[in-house]
Amino acid sequence: MNIILLGPPGAGKGTQARHLVETRNMIQLSTGDMLREAKDSGTEMGKIVADVMARGDLVTDEIVIGLIREKLEGDKAGGFIFDGFPRTLGQADALAELLSEKGENLDAVIEMQVDDAALVSRITGRSTCSNCGEVYHDETKPWPADGKCSNCGGGSQKRRADDNEESLKQRLMEYYKKTSPLIGYYYAKGQLSTVDGLGEIEGVQAAISDILG
Ligand code: ADP
Repeated sequence: MNIILLGPPGAGKGTQARHLVETRNMIQLSTGDMLREAKDSGTEMGKIVADVMARGDLVTDEIVIGLIREKLEGDKAGGFIFDGFPRTLGQADALAELLSEKGENLDAVIEMQVDDAALVSRITGRSTCSNCGEVYHDETKPWPADGKCSNCGGGSQKRRADDNEESLKQRLMEYYKKTSPLIGYYYAKGQLSTVDGLGEIEGVQAAISDILG
């Protein structure tokens, strides 16, 4: 089963993807994570994308499609979760082509709806464990006082360079201009399902599970 998680920054795509990885043995393909890895390891591509990402702009279709193409060559286990990809109509068309070349289907596109006011507080308070990627929030799930991640027992608290109000504004603008048309695109293809991303994490998990069956 291959699925897309669609929604604005902070909608909870990564959190839900992690759950599907654990419960359904699926593979999470987050282009955001891949680009951050490239940036952290200082590759040529990483240097090119660093400024673009810090501003909150989109990286070129060519770069992200290349990253996804490479990952589709690897093990597919219980199927792929596309998290933060596609983000433009060009990427959506490229994904359809890549999947059909592999004889794979797209089984569901799940739109996670969250209102903009909630996104600002979710993102500006967000941090993750440097070791296992567990997601924390300053108000709702603070980093443990003993300094150790409650999930893996190690790591350190990490914040993303683009998780500030200014970049978020630009990321939202990019989302509404370039990514939100995908909602209509997948609706017209009969592949779109919608969940309310504002509820408790477990409630959202259950809603997604209902859709996937
Ligand atoms: P979020 O959804 O929280 O904004 P991501 O981790 O998905 O964060 O992406 C972070 C940044 O990486 C984006 O703002 C953009 O610069 C870049 N990026 C990630 N995925 C894509 C994509 N599919 N196309 C273009 N740029 C991307």
